[in-house]
Amino acid sequence: MGKICGKRAYALLERIAYERLGGSPEEAQAAQTLLDELASFGLQGHIEIFPIPTSTIQVAKLEVLEPYQAEYEVAGYGLTGNTDAEGLVADLVYAEGAGEVNLLGTAGKIVLINEGLPLEKYEKLAKAQVAGFISIGGRLWEREDLPRRSIREPYFKHGKIPGVSIRAADALEMVQKGASKVRLTLQQDECEVDSRNVIAEIKGTRYPEEVVVFAAHYDSVPYSAGANDNGAGSVILMELARQFAQQPPLRTVRFCWFGSEELGLLGSFAYVKQHEAELDSIKFVINVDVAGGYLGQNVTFVMAPDALKGYVEILAKQEGLEMGIRHDVYSSDAIPFAEKGIPGINFCRFGAPIHNRHDQLEYISPARLEELASFVWLFSEKTVNATVFPVARELPDNVKKSLQKYLEARRGKDTSK
Ligand SMILES: [Zn+2]
Repeated sequence: MGKICGKRAYALLERIAYERLGGSPEEAQAAQTLLDELASFGLQGHIEIFPIPTSTIQVAKLEVLEPYQAEYEVAGYGLTGNTDAEGLVADLVYAEGAGEVNLLGTAGKIVLINEGLPLEKYEKLAKAQVAGFISIGGRLWEREDLPRRSIREPYFKHGKIPGVSIRAADALEMVQKGASKVRLTLQQDECEVDSRNVIAEIKGTRYPEEVVVFAAHYDSVPYSAGANDNGAGSVILMELARQFAQQPPLRTVRFCWFGSEELGLLGSFAYVKQHEAELDSIKFVINVDVAGGYLGQNVTFVMAPDALKGYVEILAKQEGLEMGIRHDVYSSDAIPFAEKGIPGINFCRFGAPIHNRHDQLEYISPARLEELASFVWLFSEKTVNATVFPVARELPDNVKKSLQKYLEARRGKDTSK
């Protein structure tokens, strides 16, 4: 029987190492590559489509009018609406992290804000009734790419605030020169496009009604080849599928390559929603997200009862694999399942670049792919083929608590969904 092979995994990674934005033609192309690879060893997968909101930026423009004149390159913040075609002229305030003091008297003004726009911050901008925002992106000491970001569905309830992203170096110049009046122009078309989950299943020979889900997202962020995050997890999953195809499992294994994870776990949330009626059969989720770096360290996030944490700790020692173990939530595709009470585990290797244009193949090692894939295989095979399923279908209180916190930050407190 063939074994887990890092070189083969890397070869597949080379074929999908390009920008794969949720809902883009490139994401669809990568989905097809995964289907073709499955077919090459006799497994027939299928695609499940789900709609996601998106936008096409037509105009994103920022001019300083007073006390000096300049125009800076900016990127439109997706789904934040439009200004008038002639632009919005308003006073500018540098509102730092959008704290209470920062936002005093900013109604009707345009605010320049530090990097990052969690839901809570957007809500504060809405409450302060700012007319628009300019979000600082990237590092001061390099000409980084302009972030291409979008707000998401949970933000919509706070209304539209036209926004753009600007490089940190340009923001510095605006603050140094005391920019006080600007014209912001944002025009975008908002619509829905299809994103995709790739699904393949191997029926269990003894307990076909008990399902273990294997998950990895295969989309990427803008500018990124998404080799580390998460082409690597995607190809590790393919190695596992190949093993189970050769060695039929006792329980059903279902492989899910999720789309649009980077846009807010949209693929896995859509999956859980589309399959609500069948969730009872899912015992456990094994997720791989970020892996393969030459430089880095292995970390496992256990979102399951305490006993599993101890088990993985011991297994890693027995295998001679250095593995940090956390008993906590990990922001990835096991979350929507955990919300439904299904325990999960996340295997990761942190160190190589993520979420920028430096997430490239050159930082990924076939040997490290093989190492983690082999460990996940060992763990999975023992779990899936156990005489009695070894992981109780429950979440311990500490994990439940972190999960609730995570979901609240994502959606806001006062919502039922
Ligand atoms: Zn990821």
